[in-house]
Amino acid sequence: MIDPPSNIRAHQAEQVLEITWPDGAADRLPYRALRAECPCASCQDEWTGERIIQVEHVREDIKLEGLEMVGTYAIQPTWSDGHSTGIYTWELLRKAAADLPKP
Ligand SMILES: [Zn+2]
Repeated sequence: MIDPPSNIRAHQAEQVLEITWPDGAADRLPYRALRAECPCASCQDEWTGERIIQVEHVREDIKLEGLEMVGTYAIQPTWSDGHSTGIYTWELLRKAAADLPKP
């Protein structure tokens, strides 16, 4: 289990979700990449894990319309394309950050 972040900030102008972890590490996740990582069944095949939504399919001007906590283990974003069924666990967020190209 990964401990919940100590802070989550949405930078709307930059389209970046900044997540600070209890160990002090901070991840900056671009909305577009994050939207493409959506783990729900309509964005990713449940059985094969194959991605249905790719980053090229996500609008460049994607915004975050809302962010709900799911218990203490995940967040559920509402995107400006109307999609809100993805539940992003801390594990997924850390993995997504690790997989991003470093600036
Ligand atoms: Zn999805």
